[in-house]
Formats: sequence, C-alpha cells, structure tokens
Amino acid sequence: MKPVALAIHGGCGVMAKSDLREEEWEAARADLAASLRAGWAVLSKGGSALDAVEAAVVVMEDSPHFNAGYGAALNENAEHELDASIMNGADLDAGAVSAASRIRNPVKAARAVMEKSGAVLLTGAAADRFAERCGLEMVAPDYFTTQRRQDALAAMKEHAKAGTAAAASEAEKHGTVGAVALDADGHLAAATSTGGYNNKPEGRVGDSPIIGAGTYARDGVCAVSGTGQGEFFIRHVVGHEIASRIAYRGETLEMAANGVIREDLKSYGIGAGAVAVDGAGNVCAPYNTAGMFRGWTAGDGALYVASHDEVFCVETLEASA
Ligand code: ASP
Repeated sequence: MKPVALAIHGGCGVMAKSDLREEEWEAARADLAASLRAGWAVLSKGGSALDAVEAAVVVMEDSPHFNAGYGAALNENAEHELDASIMNGADLDAGAVSAASRIRNPVKAARAVMEKSGAVLLTGAAADRFAERCGLEMVAPDYFTTQRRQDALAAMKEHAKAGTAAAASEAEKHGTVGAVALDADGHLAAATSTGGYNNKPEGRVGDSPIIGAGTYARDGVCAVSGTGQGEFFIRHVVGHEIASRIAYRGETLEMAANGVIREDLKSYGIGAGAVAVDGAGNVCAPYNTAGMFRGWTAGDGALYVASHDEVFCVETLEASA
C-alpha cells in the first residue's frame, strides 16, 4: 500500500486554555476535523495532494476560529490584507497572492495564479481583479471582520501605545492556516493562507505567500507550511531550509523541522510552528508556543486534532487511498 498523508495547522497563535470556554475550543477542533476530512476526501479517492491541501485550507479560511479568510487579522488601518500560496512538489509549480482584500478564499486565487497567470505572485488590487476575472467568489472586505479580531486590534494598539507589544499574547498577535499532503502517486503539495498579524503596517507582506519561506513542496523531499512571525521565516527561508537539511544533510523530517523551528529561530523569541510531510508519509508538527492548532492523518487511518498537548482522535478512517 502506498503511503498517503495529510497534516494541517491553524496557526501557533494559540491562547492560554483559560482564555476560551471549553465549547469554543471544541468548536475550533471541530473545524480542524472538518478541514482534515475535506483533504482526506480527496486523497482517499486517489486525488492529488494539490487538491487535498487546497480543500483543507478552504475549510479553515471559512472558519472564524483561524486567522485566514473569514476571521482574518486587521492591519493598522483596520483593513484586511490577505496572503496565500500553494505549491506543487511534482514540478515546483507555485502560485500566490498578497495583500488581497476581496477574494473569499485566497488559496483558490493562489491556485489560479499558478495555473492561469504565468506569474508566481500577484498582489493587491490586481490580485483581486485577477481572481474576479477567474470567476472566483468575491466579497466585500468587511466579510472577513469578526468581533474577536476587532478586539485583538484594539488590544494591540493599546500595547503599541504602552510599548508592550512584545508582551502581547500570541493570540492577539498572529495566526495562519496551512496544509501539507502526500498523495498515492507520491506527489507532495503545500498551501498556506493568512491575515498576517494584528496591527501590521499597511502593505506588509509576510512569509505565507513567499515560496520557500512559508510554503514549500518538493517531491521526494518534503512539503512544509509555516506559522509565526513571517519576517523571520523569510530571512531563514524556512520551508526551503527544512527541505535542504533533508536533501543535502540526510536529516529525517523530524530532525530538519525541529532544527529549524525550535533551534534556528529560538534566539529571536518569536512564536513559530510548522506542519511538514515527507515522501515516505512521515508527518511532524513542531511549535515553540503554548500550543498550535493542528491535525494530521498518516498511515494508521486515524484522524487526530489538537490545540495544546492533548491529542484527540476524532475519527478512524479508511487508511488506503
Ligand atoms: N506567518 C504569518 C505572517 O507573518 C503570521 C502567522 O503565522 O502567525 O504573516
């Protein structure tokens, strides 16, 4: 049986357990499970890793619990500027959008950029117009706004005034969603989507739409989607760095991903996490914060989700594709 695997994250901007009621944690985990099921529905029918990561990310973009699509962070002007990307490990084809504000599902636009534009990255109003021309669903920018993000923006502005931004909780600061997959044909893919971080400067572009930084996939090596302060992910070219450690140093997926997320980024004191899968179907989800919304299914047919240390098996699935 050929290995098939899928891992997702909903960002490492996870708050203290006491910040949410148990029903709210459960609701977020239910949306992680829905995302995994959407990706698995593709993979288990022999579909492509590319389709699986897109399907999984769309579900999290539509959920208010994560910082992407509906429920995305607001920038310093209380506006949304959304970033997303997707990469096909089979041929290194990739697409991305940055600073988009009207595309309901930015990951779909990233896919359209990859397949239809001849470019890798389209930005701002031009990205919105391109998505519209491709027939994607467009929304008014306030579709993305939730009370929680408005409160987080207000809190970040207070922190900025008081000079305590670094001490703000991870939840107030950031978040992202992403997915990585290995399909039955041995192809890897990765996708990432984010609102960036609360109170970010207008026009700021993070790592999520930067191929090699927040998103990377290369067949036979690994697929990676990251979460954490994007400036550091760009400087360390995190996705590509993890792949390089595997390809050139012969490290295992776990050694490479842990080495970059937990060691290389350690001295900056930033929240950081990632999900990754290799060509053999191994998955890992390292993070250095109190928690990371995450989920995975790999080989044993069971579907797992977690936010902190406790891991919930939400379903036993058909293991084979
Ligand atoms: N990586 C995202 C960015 O910098 C934010 C995050 O994942 O927390 O835009």
